[in-house]
Amino acid sequence: MAGRADSTVLAGARVVLPTGTVEDGRVIVEGTRIAGSTPDGARTLDLQGHWVVPGFVDMHNHGGGGASFATGTAEDVLTGVRAHREHGTTTVVASTVTGDMDFLARQAGLLSELVEQGELAGIHFEGPFISPCRKGAHSEGLLREPDPAEVRKLLDAARGTAKMVTLATELPGGIDSVRLLAEHGVIAAVGHTDATYEQTVEAIEAGATVATHLYNAMPALGHRAPGPIAALLEDERVTVELINDGTHLHPAALELAYHRAGADRVALITDAMDAAGADDGFYELGPLAVEVKDGVARLVEGGSIAGSTLTLDTAFRRAVTIDRIPVEDVVRSISANPARLLGLYDRVGSLDPGKDADLVVLDADFALKGVMRRGEWIVEPRIG
Ligand SMILES: [Zn+2]
Repeated sequence: MAGRADSTVLAGARVVLPTGTVEDGRVIVEGTRIAGSTPDGARTLDLQGHWVVPGFVDMHNHGGGGASFATGTAEDVLTGVRAHREHGTTTVVASTVTGDMDFLARQAGLLSELVEQGELAGIHFEGPFISPCRKGAHSEGLLREPDPAEVRKLLDAARGTAKMVTLATELPGGIDSVRLLAEHGVIAAVGHTDATYEQTVEAIEAGATVATHLYNAMPALGHRAPGPIAALLEDERVTVELINDGTHLHPAALELAYHRAGADRVALITDAMDAAGADDGFYELGPLAVEVKDGVARLVEGGSIAGSTLTLDTAFRRAVTIDRIPVEDVVRSISANPARLLGLYDRVGSLDPGKDADLVVLDADFALKGVMRRGEWIVEPRIG
């Protein structure tokens, strides 16, 4: 049974802190928080041979466990949230997909209540202000040019819980929309874009700070036309999202991004749809039908990749074991960086005392063995 650990010392593990990995380290959990010293009567859990890392923070996620954040009811959204928590994601932003403006405003209202209740960390609007040339799994008929007044409507509908808007900044109204978002403290993310290198530089100058799933749904890197990828990778102000599921990116492309941007400017995301943490079969992504086969989600019509079925524990394990990224760097890009971008680093994103006791226990092969959120085991480690 998952239960509340009032005071627990997680001992003997390799603990990944912002300053590096501590061998034979300890994490002290008191109530819902991480504590700096051991209270009387604390019980000890021996985690020798394991890693303890901060809970994962997913800033781009459309659902899971068979349920959609983009179209579901509040109950559906909670089903998706729980599915991802079981895979180590203790903080999740709900991403929408392109829909008509009234529908998006209503869904934003529903999601904003779950943000206020502490179940979600915010809302990410992906579409409708994206390029028809790079629409991916978004309905072409519902795409719109990025009009700042309409962007504003979505922010209002989200009642202060909007964290990010993905848009094709090269479209008319794109740069003004980026400025509006930056003024409101909402991340302007360049994505589903057909922009040139120069247009992307202009968007960054206007305040865009995130690349939505770098490489996917944007022009490829060309030696005479470097496009958005080069502009987004080279600018210190930009964090690049990567979907590390082995389908969206070749390991070499992921490594290139880590090396060019540095681990402090990478955010590992899932871009998950309903089938994450669920079975193969037929699903919907907004208004579009999707078939999931062998864990790969594609539109029934046209065959575009339609989000992923990835969970962040898998993204973590792949990054360490296949892509050979150092564990500490993976922790930065899966917890600390997204937490900072979302303005949540004072509460989550590291194992520093005073923060929420959100953590993940991994075995020596980086398989998930435990998940704690706010001091409560979501997945209780069975050790020994
Ligand atoms: Zn997405």
